Amino acid sequence: MEIKITKTLSPKAKPEDESKLSFGKIFTDHMFLMNYDEGQGWHDARIVPYGPIPLDPSAMCLHYGQADFEGMKAYRTAEGKIQLFRPEENMKRMNVSNDRLCIPLIDEAFCVEAVKALVKVDEDWVPHSEGTSLYIRPYIFAIDPMLGVHPAKHLIFAIICSPVGAYYAAGLAPVKIYVEPNYVRAVTGGTGFTKAAANYAISLKAQDEADKQGYEQVLWLDGVHRKYIEEVGAMNVFFVLNGEVVTPSLDRGSILSGITRKSCIEVLRSKGYTVTERNIEIDELVAAYENGTFDEAFGTGTAAVISPIGELKYGDKIMALNNGEIGKISQLLYDTLTGIQWGRIEDTFGWVSPLE
Ligand SMILES: *Cc1c(COP(=O)(O)O)cnc(C)c1O
Repeated sequence: MEIKITKTLSPKAKPEDESKLSFGKIFTDHMFLMNYDEGQGWHDARIVPYGPIPLDPSAMCLHYGQADFEGMKAYRTAEGKIQLFRPEENMKRMNVSNDRLCIPLIDEAFCVEAVKALVKVDEDWVPHSEGTSLYIRPYIFAIDPMLGVHPAKHLIFAIICSPVGAYYAAGLAPVKIYVEPNYVRAVTGGTGFTKAAANYAISLKAQDEADKQGYEQVLWLDGVHRKYIEEVGAMNVFFVLNGEVVTPSLDRGSILSGITRKSCIEVLRSKGYTVTERNIEIDELVAAYENGTFDEAFGTGTAAVISPIGELKYGDKIMALNNGEIGKISQLLYDTLTGIQWGRIEDTFGWVSPLE
């Protein structure tokens, strides 16, 4: 499919001070759109000036949340080249989400090309400073103008881009995590393994509670037994217990399969570490803390890459980890992944995808 490009006649001013960039507040000059109509499939791929999208007030996504998304980044190397990190994995995962939500599947290779075409048009928006990047948000939403609950026959696939600042302006910093006792994010048979928009709506209440208690993120326990560790906020989670790296297995279907998670496992295994994917009970962490074998904990995701956990609160129990310092494995993964993403170290895995 051809992508028709219409450039804006009134480009916006780019952020002058890249050290003030935050996350997802400003957007580039263009966006990618394509429509799905039953009988026609996905069609009308186009890059157009960034702007409002007309929606009927009865559009299905507004009522029943038939919508999903992806999150990825474009990185500028020291030589000024722009590259993506495993973009085909994002589009593959988007189809996993689509399938679960009765959203028509996309052509994964074409959608990677669409991302590249859009980033190319807005390439001057990819920031230059250390640690900055262009966040890319592909998403799909149902637009049928009717209130019946059924799979949509008309949808929009869109991509927007936002220049984002260095996640750790002052270096890798540990976060405080609150183990959520009341609310759950996902259950077996539900949509936890997808990036369904609704998953994030239902997580807000717990995040609000964590904020009130002075914690930055929520650690989710499984929705059935309320004892197995699932994720931290919208990140996967790893622990180093007695020297062994462990992370929750994805078997229950309630955990999102992170591309950063997968990359961390591959990096560690390539360096000779053993990584075990298995069920991890919250009580096991408490026991490890008590007997001095709880070495490290960290979250993984595209936004932060690695987010070291400095404190975990479970009920009345407060576990302070690693003297508030960055663990050895957290630092190793952070240096390796960001090194590959920004082109500072050789990509021996074949993960980097240049713009052209
Ligand atoms: C996106 C996301 C992650 C991280 O996935 P990456 O592919 O590593 O960015 C983890 N958990 C949830 C719930 C997510 O939405």
